[in-house]
Amino acid sequence: MKSFLRKSLEEKYLPMTTKTALITGGTSGIGLGIATKFASEGFNLLLNGLEKEGPDICADLAKKYAVKVIYSNANLLKPTEITKMISDGEASLGGFDVLVNNAGIQFVAPIEEFPDEKWEMIIGINLSASFYSCKAVWKGMKARKSGRIINIASAHGLVASEFKSAYVAAKHGLVGLTKVLALEGGAFGITVNAICPGYVKTPLVDKQISDQAKAHGISEEEVVNKIMLSEQAIKQFTPVPAIADLAFYLTGDQSKTITGASLSIDGGWTAH
Ligand code: NAD
Repeated sequence: MKSFLRKSLEEKYLPMTTKTALITGGTSGIGLGIATKFASEGFNLLLNGLEKEGPDICADLAKKYAVKVIYSNANLLKPTEITKMISDGEASLGGFDVLVNNAGIQFVAPIEEFPDEKWEMIIGINLSASFYSCKAVWKGMKARKSGRIINIASAHGLVASEFKSAYVAAKHGLVGLTKVLALEGGAFGITVNAICPGYVKTPLVDKQISDQAKAHGISEEEVVNKIMLSEQAIKQFTPVPAIADLAFYLTGDQSKTITGASLSIDGGWTAH
Protein backbone atom coordinates (compact mmCIF):
# COMPACT_ATOMS: atom_id res chain seq x y z
CA MET A 1 0.00 0.00 0.00
CA LYS A 2 2.84 2.32 1.02
CA SER A 3 4.78 1.72 -2.19
CA PHE A 4 1.60 2.16 -4.26
CA LEU A 5 1.00 5.51 -2.55
CA ARG A 6 4.60 6.58 -3.16
CA LYS A 7 4.43 5.52 -6.81
CA SER A 8 1.24 7.50 -7.43
CA LEU A 9 2.69 10.55 -5.67
CA GLU A 10 5.84 10.28 -7.77
CA GLU A 11 3.79 10.06 -10.94
CA LYS A 12 1.89 13.15 -9.90
CA TYR A 13 4.71 15.34 -8.70
CA LEU A 14 7.95 14.29 -10.38
CA PRO A 15 8.70 15.82 -13.78
CA MET A 16 7.61 13.61 -16.69
CA THR A 17 11.15 13.42 -18.02
CA THR A 18 14.26 14.27 -16.06
CA LYS A 19 16.45 16.76 -17.86
CA THR A 20 20.21 16.82 -17.67
CA ALA A 21 22.38 19.93 -17.58
CA LEU A 22 26.06 20.80 -17.50
CA ILE A 23 26.84 24.09 -15.75
CA THR A 24 30.40 25.42 -15.87
CA GLY A 25 31.36 27.48 -12.85
CA GLY A 26 28.43 25.71 -11.20
CA THR A 27 29.97 25.66 -7.73
CA SER A 28 30.02 29.43 -7.07
CA GLY A 29 27.97 32.59 -7.53
CA ILE A 30 25.60 32.73 -10.49
CA GLY A 31 26.41 29.16 -11.61
CA LEU A 32 25.57 27.77 -8.18
CA GLY A 33 22.32 29.76 -8.22
CA ILE A 34 21.41 28.21 -11.58
CA ALA A 35 22.41 24.76 -10.32
CA THR A 36 20.19 25.15 -7.25
CA LYS A 37 17.20 26.23 -9.36
CA PHE A 38 17.69 23.41 -11.88
CA ALA A 39 18.13 20.80 -9.11
CA SER A 40 14.95 22.06 -7.44
CA GLU A 41 13.18 21.49 -10.78
CA GLY A 42 14.39 17.89 -10.96
CA PHE A 43 17.41 18.22 -13.27
CA ASN A 44 20.34 15.82 -13.02
CA LEU A 45 23.51 17.91 -13.13
CA LEU A 46 27.19 17.95 -13.89
CA LEU A 47 28.74 20.91 -12.10
CA ASN A 48 32.20 22.10 -13.06
CA GLY A 49 34.25 24.53 -11.01
CA LEU A 50 37.52 24.93 -9.17
CA GLU A 51 36.13 25.45 -5.64
CA LYS A 52 37.56 22.96 -3.16
CA GLU A 53 34.05 22.64 -1.69
CA GLY A 54 32.80 21.39 -5.12
CA PRO A 55 32.21 17.75 -4.11
CA ASP A 56 30.36 18.78 -0.92
CA ILE A 57 28.20 21.30 -2.79
CA CYS A 58 27.20 18.59 -5.27
CA ALA A 59 26.47 16.05 -2.53
CA ASP A 60 24.31 18.59 -0.65
CA LEU A 61 22.27 19.47 -3.76
CA ALA A 62 21.82 15.80 -4.66
CA LYS A 63 20.56 15.00 -1.17
CA LYS A 64 18.31 18.04 -0.83
CA TYR A 65 16.57 17.66 -4.19
CA ALA A 66 16.88 13.87 -4.76
CA VAL A 67 18.67 14.28 -8.10
CA LYS A 68 22.05 13.14 -9.44
CA VAL A 69 24.77 15.78 -9.17
CA ILE A 70 28.27 14.98 -10.41
CA TYR A 71 31.29 17.21 -9.81
CA SER A 72 34.11 17.93 -12.27
CA ASN A 73 37.17 20.04 -11.58
CA ALA A 74 38.18 20.12 -15.27
CA ASN A 75 40.30 23.18 -16.02
CA LEU A 76 38.49 25.10 -18.74
CA LEU A 77 41.79 26.48 -20.01
CA LYS A 78 42.52 22.97 -21.30
CA PRO A 79 40.33 21.89 -24.25
CA THR A 80 41.15 18.20 -23.71
CA GLU A 81 39.82 18.43 -20.13
CA ILE A 82 36.60 20.02 -21.44
CA THR A 83 35.96 17.27 -23.99
CA LYS A 84 36.78 14.54 -21.45
CA MET A 85 34.46 16.11 -18.87
CA ILE A 86 31.64 16.13 -21.42
CA SER A 87 32.16 12.58 -22.70
CA ASP A 88 32.46 11.26 -19.12
CA GLY A 89 29.35 13.24 -18.15
CA GLU A 90 27.39 11.88 -21.11
CA ALA A 91 28.41 8.35 -20.14
CA SER A 92 27.20 8.86 -16.53
CA LEU A 93 24.10 11.00 -17.03
CA GLY A 94 23.09 10.45 -20.67
CA GLY A 95 23.24 13.26 -23.22
CA PHE A 96 23.02 16.85 -21.99
CA ASP A 97 19.72 18.59 -22.71
CA VAL A 98 21.11 21.90 -21.46
CA LEU A 99 24.59 23.42 -21.44
CA VAL A 100 25.20 26.56 -19.39
CA ASN A 101 28.52 28.21 -20.18
CA ASN A 102 28.85 30.29 -17.05
CA ALA A 103 32.43 30.11 -15.76
CA GLY A 104 34.26 33.39 -16.02
CA ILE A 105 37.00 35.49 -14.48
CA GLN A 106 37.73 39.20 -14.46
CA PHE A 107 40.80 41.40 -14.32
CA VAL A 108 40.80 45.19 -14.29
CA ALA A 109 43.76 47.32 -15.43
CA PRO A 110 44.59 50.01 -17.97
CA ILE A 111 45.80 48.57 -21.30
CA GLU A 112 49.49 49.43 -20.86
CA GLU A 113 49.56 47.62 -17.49
CA PHE A 114 47.32 44.71 -18.54
CA PRO A 115 49.36 41.49 -18.12
CA ASP A 116 49.51 39.33 -21.28
CA GLU A 117 48.79 36.19 -19.25
CA LYS A 118 45.58 37.73 -17.84
CA TRP A 119 44.43 38.50 -21.41
CA GLU A 120 45.08 34.86 -22.40
CA MET A 121 43.29 33.49 -19.32
CA ILE A 122 40.21 35.69 -19.71
CA ILE A 123 39.85 34.91 -23.41
CA GLY A 124 40.50 31.22 -22.64
CA ILE A 125 37.96 30.81 -19.83
CA ASN A 126 35.31 33.39 -20.79
CA LEU A 127 35.26 32.71 -24.54
CA SER A 128 37.30 29.79 -25.93
CA ALA A 129 36.03 27.30 -23.30
CA SER A 130 32.46 27.99 -24.48
CA PHE A 131 33.47 27.22 -28.06
CA TYR A 132 34.95 23.88 -26.99
CA SER A 133 32.01 22.89 -24.77
CA CYS A 134 29.43 23.83 -27.42
CA LYS A 135 31.39 21.80 -29.96
CA ALA A 136 31.50 18.80 -27.62
CA VAL A 137 27.75 18.71 -26.82
CA TRP A 138 26.65 19.64 -30.36
CA LYS A 139 26.77 16.16 -31.92
CA GLY A 140 24.49 14.67 -29.25
CA MET A 141 22.04 17.58 -29.28
CA LYS A 142 21.88 17.47 -33.08
CA ALA A 143 21.25 13.70 -33.09
CA ARG A 144 18.44 14.11 -30.52
CA LYS A 145 17.13 17.18 -32.42
CA SER A 146 16.93 19.03 -29.13
CA GLY A 147 19.19 21.18 -26.99
CA ARG A 148 19.41 24.41 -25.07
CA ILE A 149 22.66 26.33 -24.75
CA ILE A 150 22.77 29.31 -22.41
CA ASN A 151 25.86 31.51 -22.41
CA ILE A 152 26.27 33.75 -19.40
CA ALA A 153 27.69 36.84 -21.10
CA SER A 154 27.34 40.27 -19.47
CA ALA A 155 26.22 43.82 -20.07
CA HIS A 156 29.88 43.98 -21.10
CA GLY A 157 28.93 41.78 -24.06
CA LEU A 158 26.98 44.78 -25.35
CA VAL A 159 28.77 47.88 -24.04
CA ALA A 160 32.27 48.69 -22.80
CA SER A 161 33.86 50.05 -19.63
CA GLU A 162 37.43 51.29 -19.34
CA PHE A 163 40.17 49.03 -17.89
CA LYS A 164 38.36 45.81 -18.92
CA SER A 165 39.86 45.15 -22.34
CA ALA A 166 40.01 41.35 -22.11
CA TYR A 167 36.66 40.87 -20.36
CA VAL A 168 34.73 43.15 -22.74
CA ALA A 169 36.41 41.55 -25.77
CA ALA A 170 35.61 38.04 -24.50
CA LYS A 171 31.98 38.84 -23.68
CA HIS A 172 31.39 40.56 -27.04
CA GLY A 173 32.91 37.43 -28.59
CA LEU A 174 30.55 35.22 -26.60
CA VAL A 175 27.54 37.20 -27.84
CA GLY A 176 28.87 36.70 -31.39
CA LEU A 177 29.33 32.95 -30.84
CA THR A 178 25.77 32.78 -29.49
CA LYS A 179 24.37 34.32 -32.70
CA VAL A 180 26.36 32.04 -35.02
CA LEU A 181 25.36 28.85 -33.18
CA ALA A 182 21.72 29.96 -33.02
CA LEU A 183 21.77 30.06 -36.82
CA GLU A 184 23.52 26.68 -37.07
CA GLY A 185 21.25 25.03 -34.45
CA GLY A 186 17.87 26.24 -35.69
CA ALA A 187 17.28 23.32 -38.05
CA PHE A 188 18.13 20.82 -35.30
CA GLY A 189 15.96 22.03 -32.41
CA ILE A 190 18.93 23.61 -30.65
CA THR A 191 18.48 27.10 -29.20
CA VAL A 192 21.45 29.23 -28.17
CA ASN A 193 21.02 32.38 -26.12
CA ALA A 194 23.11 34.77 -24.05
CA ILE A 195 22.08 36.21 -20.69
CA CYS A 196 23.65 39.62 -20.14
CA PRO A 197 23.54 40.57 -16.45
CA GLY A 198 24.49 43.90 -14.97
CA TYR A 199 26.20 43.69 -11.59
CA VAL A 200 25.36 40.67 -9.41
CA LYS A 201 26.89 40.40 -5.93
CA THR A 202 29.09 37.29 -6.15
CA PRO A 203 32.73 36.45 -5.29
CA LEU A 204 33.75 37.74 -8.76
CA VAL A 205 32.25 41.17 -8.06
CA ASP A 206 33.56 41.32 -4.49
CA LYS A 207 37.08 40.97 -5.90
CA GLN A 208 36.37 43.52 -8.62
CA ILE A 209 35.30 46.13 -6.07
CA SER A 210 38.74 46.08 -4.47
CA ASP A 211 40.55 45.90 -7.86
CA GLN A 212 38.56 48.86 -9.22
CA ALA A 213 39.24 50.86 -6.06
CA LYS A 214 42.97 50.42 -6.68
CA ALA A 215 42.74 51.11 -10.46
CA HIS A 216 40.75 54.33 -9.95
CA GLY A 217 42.34 55.35 -6.64
CA ILE A 218 38.97 55.64 -4.83
CA SER A 219 37.16 53.91 -1.95
CA GLU A 220 35.23 50.63 -2.36
CA GLU A 221 31.95 52.40 -1.53
CA GLU A 222 32.63 54.89 -4.32
CA VAL A 223 33.33 52.01 -6.72
CA VAL A 224 29.86 50.56 -6.04
CA ASN A 225 27.94 53.85 -6.20
CA LYS A 226 29.94 55.94 -8.68
CA ILE A 227 31.15 53.24 -11.10
CA MET A 228 29.30 49.94 -10.87
CA LEU A 229 25.71 51.04 -10.42
CA SER A 230 26.04 54.52 -11.92
CA GLU A 231 24.96 53.45 -15.44
CA GLN A 232 21.93 51.47 -14.21
CA ALA A 233 18.49 53.12 -14.10
CA ILE A 234 17.67 50.79 -11.19
CA LYS A 235 20.59 51.20 -8.82
CA GLN A 236 20.57 47.72 -7.34
CA PHE A 237 22.59 44.56 -7.78
CA THR A 238 20.59 41.90 -9.64
CA PRO A 239 19.96 38.95 -7.28
CA VAL A 240 21.46 35.57 -8.26
CA PRO A 241 18.02 33.80 -8.19
CA ALA A 242 16.72 36.27 -10.80
CA ILE A 243 19.42 35.11 -13.24
CA ALA A 244 18.68 31.48 -12.32
CA ASP A 245 14.96 31.90 -13.04
CA LEU A 246 15.70 33.46 -16.44
CA ALA A 247 18.07 30.57 -17.28
CA PHE A 248 15.41 28.06 -16.22
CA TYR A 249 12.83 29.82 -18.44
CA LEU A 250 15.17 29.32 -21.40
CA THR A 251 15.07 25.53 -20.83
CA GLY A 252 11.28 25.30 -21.04
CA ASP A 253 8.79 24.76 -23.82
CA GLN A 254 7.60 28.38 -23.90
CA SER A 255 11.06 29.59 -24.90
CA LYS A 256 11.55 27.25 -27.84
CA THR A 257 11.54 30.09 -30.40
CA ILE A 258 13.88 32.35 -28.44
CA THR A 259 17.29 31.91 -30.02
CA GLY A 260 20.28 34.08 -30.88
CA ALA A 261 19.06 36.57 -28.26
CA SER A 262 21.12 38.58 -25.80
CA LEU A 263 18.77 38.95 -22.85
CA SER A 264 19.65 41.92 -20.66
CA ILE A 265 18.98 41.74 -16.93
CA ASP A 266 20.94 44.82 -15.95
CA GLY A 267 18.75 47.45 -14.26
CA GLY A 268 18.57 49.37 -17.55
CA TRP A 269 22.34 49.80 -17.95
CA THR A 270 22.32 49.06 -21.69
CA ALA A 271 19.20 51.15 -22.36
CA HIS A 272 21.47 54.20 -22.83
P1 NAD B 1 32.27 33.49 -9.49
O1 NAD B 1 33.68 33.95 -9.32
O2 NAD B 1 31.39 33.40 -8.28
O3 NAD B 1 32.26 32.07 -10.22
C1 NAD B 1 33.10 31.78 -11.30
C2 NAD B 1 33.18 30.27 -11.49
O4 NAD B 1 34.06 29.98 -12.60
C3 NAD B 1 33.74 29.53 -10.27
O5 NAD B 1 33.00 28.35 -10.02
C4 NAD B 1 35.15 29.16 -10.71
O6 NAD B 1 35.68 27.99 -10.09
C5 NAD B 1 34.93 28.92 -12.19
N1 NAD B 1 36.19 28.96 -12.94
C6 NAD B 1 37.06 30.00 -13.03
N2 NAD B 1 38.14 29.63 -13.74
C7 NAD B 1 37.95 28.33 -14.10
C8 NAD B 1 38.69 27.37 -14.85
N3 NAD B 1 39.90 27.66 -15.38
N4 NAD B 1 38.19 26.14 -15.02
C9 NAD B 1 36.99 25.80 -14.48
N5 NAD B 1 36.22 26.67 -13.78
C10 NAD B 1 36.70 27.91 -13.59
O7 NAD B 1 31.64 34.47 -10.58
P2 NAD B 1 30.14 34.90 -10.96
O8 NAD B 1 30.00 36.33 -10.60
O9 NAD B 1 29.15 33.93 -10.46
O10 NAD B 1 30.23 34.86 -12.53
C11 NAD B 1 29.66 33.84 -13.32
C12 NAD B 1 29.55 34.34 -14.76
O11 NAD B 1 28.68 35.46 -14.79
C13 NAD B 1 30.88 34.81 -15.34
O12 NAD B 1 30.98 34.40 -16.68
C14 NAD B 1 30.78 36.31 -15.25
O13 NAD B 1 31.58 36.96 -16.23
C15 NAD B 1 29.30 36.51 -15.50
N6 NAD B 1 28.79 37.79 -15.01
C16 NAD B 1 28.88 38.10 -13.68
C17 NAD B 1 28.38 39.31 -13.26
C18 NAD B 1 28.44 39.72 -11.83
O14 NAD B 1 28.17 40.89 -11.55
N7 NAD B 1 28.76 38.83 -10.90
C19 NAD B 1 27.81 40.21 -14.18
C20 NAD B 1 27.75 39.85 -15.50
C21 NAD B 1 28.22 38.62 -15.92
